Amino acid sequence: MITCTSCVQALYPYIDRELSEEDIVQVRQHLDDCPGCLHMFQFQEYLGRIVRVRCREQLAPDSLRARIMASFQTERMRREVRRPDRRRVSAE
Ligand SMILES: [Zn+2]
Repeated sequence: MITCTSCVQALYPYIDRELSEEDIVQVRQHLDDCPGCLHMFQFQEYLGRIVRVRCREQLAPDSLRARIMASFQTERMRREVRRPDRRRVSAE
């Protein structure tokens, strides 16, 4: 049986699935018997999920930026179409 300290230390690798089969079994057994560590595990897993969601959300601004860039270029093209008219007016 592992102690609470080693269980808590193993939580991150446990969540990241970096533990060996033996360690996974030991952590799982400890979590079954220890509500305190189980709570800690659920909290860490919850945090990990938030981080993963945040990482996914970071992709959104990229596509948003792409859309802004696209509309900016459309706007610039429209302005460039207008410009020759102005030049012709000033040339007269
Ligand atoms: Zn414990």
